[in-house]
Amino acid sequence: MKNEEEKIGSFCLKEYLQEVEEFHGHIAPGLVVGGFMVEMAKRHIPKGVLFDAISETSQCLPDAIQILTPCTVGNSWLRVIDLGRFALALFDKYTGEGVRVFLDAAKLEPFPAIRSWFFRTRPKAAQDEEKLLDEIKAAGEEILGVERVRIRDELIGKQSKGKIALCPVCGEAYPASQGDMCSGCQGQAPYLSDS
Ligand SMILES: [Zn+2]
Repeated sequence: MKNEEEKIGSFCLKEYLQEVEEFHGHIAPGLVVGGFMVEMAKRHIPKGVLFDAISETSQCLPDAIQILTPCTVGNSWLRVIDLGRFALALFDKYTGEGVRVFLDAAKLEPFPAIRSWFFRTRPKAAQDEEKLLDEIKAAGEEILGVERVRIRDELIGKQSKGKIALCPVCGEAYPASQGDMCSGCQGQAPYLSDS
């Protein structure tokens, strides 16, 4: 079993968990696994390469990436493409060459607590959180897979936002490519109308 001296980036594991608690609100198992995933991916990227990131899930992994790399949703260096797969990719932002790290279900046999968490075979309340975290720390990168990837051209580099128009309905600015009125006024706004 590995100890608390283990490194997650420039943090020792204990510091990383503190960082997670502060940023994410609680120590979610997915963020602990995610820490190992991000560090493994970083090691497979040549030093000095400016990289962008993709998270294939909206859960947990985006926060691990935001804690451990300069990539955030807000600076557009992190994109969430929600395929529902527990995987992430880091790639050269100019060439699209990179690496994808995923949680490899085939490697979970020796880790029953991780397995039942990952496949949600046990209700969350019945989950032994401490045992799960111990297993995750003990497993480290053993449960991960890594592969080389090339990112599709349209996802590399700056996305042009195109022309901006004023919406005739709400009066707010929006990308003209959305049509004659903004997507919000076309029915995609998440709010109930007052009337
Ligand atoms: Zn509008």
